Amino acid sequence: MRKLNIIPGLLCTLFFSHCTARQNTKAMTEHKNNLHYSRTDTTHLQVSNAEWKKILFKDVYDIARERGTEYAFTGKYWKTDIKGTYYCAVCGNKLFRSGAKFASSCGWPSFFEAATPGSVRYQDDNTHGMERTEVVCGRCDSHLGHVFDDGPPPTHRRFCMNSAVLEFEPDEK
Ligand code: FE
Repeated sequence: MRKLNIIPGLLCTLFFSHCTARQNTKAMTEHKNNLHYSRTDTTHLQVSNAEWKKILFKDVYDIARERGTEYAFTGKYWKTDIKGTYYCAVCGNKLFRSGAKFASSCGWPSFFEAATPGSVRYQDDNTHGMERTEVVCGRCDSHLGHVFDDGPPPTHRRFCMNSAVLEFEPDEK
């Protein structure tokens, strides 16, 4: 009799743990060849471009590791207006919240602040005859885009990002 009580409980536990595991591993299955990908580990990564080139899709690699830029109005997130979180498509680092996203006419997803102070880092970029501030992922150093001082309140900053290096996860699934 005792065995009969244990079995339904065990089946429920297995069922619900399976559902939770499926949600938690959705991102992981999409990055099954990327052992560096994590949404919880914030340890700084030091991975060579040669290794990233073997792991990443070409469009992601070209922007993230070769400082490329996608064409305006072509990326998958420039018009997105749903509550959720934007993660680094290379390493899974939390980068931006939807509450900081604003409708910009520039054609790239734009935010007025990063999710946390350590989400991103900044580097001087004097290429192409311009003086700009490059924004890189705080965990994997991948190029994300640039930040400008013409954004809306409260920060007046405009993080002009490439959709290809972002990965959006809606709050409600
Ligand atoms: Fe990253």
